[in-house]
Amino acid sequence: MPELQGQCMCGAVTVTATPARDALGACHCDMCRRWSSGPFLSIPVVTGYAALGPVKSYTSSDWAERAFCEDCGSALWYRITAPGEMHGQTQMAAGLFDNAAGSDLKLELFIDKKPQGYAFEGERRQMTEAEVMAMYAPSEEGDSQ
Ligand SMILES: [Zn+2]
Ligand SMILES: [Zn+2]
Repeated sequence: MPELQGQCMCGAVTVTATPARDALGACHCDMCRRWSSGPFLSIPVVTGYAALGPVKSYTSSDWAERAFCEDCGSALWYRITAPGEMHGQTQMAAGLFDNAAGSDLKLELFIDKKPQGYAFEGERRQMTEAEVMAMYAPSEEGDSQ
């Protein structure tokens, strides 16, 4: 996948990242909607992305953090911090990149939390809160802390 170059609303933060897949995802969970005032549209990126500028991180749960521009507040990314297989997985805010707008929306998370007032056109994989939580939960055997 070609590298993407992006920036926050004010331009203080610049991001260089390589998509893991050519696909947009949308999350309708309560936190994403409060964070971005709508579904959080993101692109999965490979680790090793670079961000320059005033990046702040907020620990939004026991398993993840959300980064934003300290100057303008633009959402930058959601990153899994919990130990285990998914550690470090990052969803980069799609709005940072001019050239990501052409990717197809392939996945909707927390579809049962989506307000009735809007919906995306077309069909794609949709996961409920219960399905998402099962996906992220540590395996029965448990990972070492
Ligand atoms: Zn900014
Ligand atoms: Zn969410």
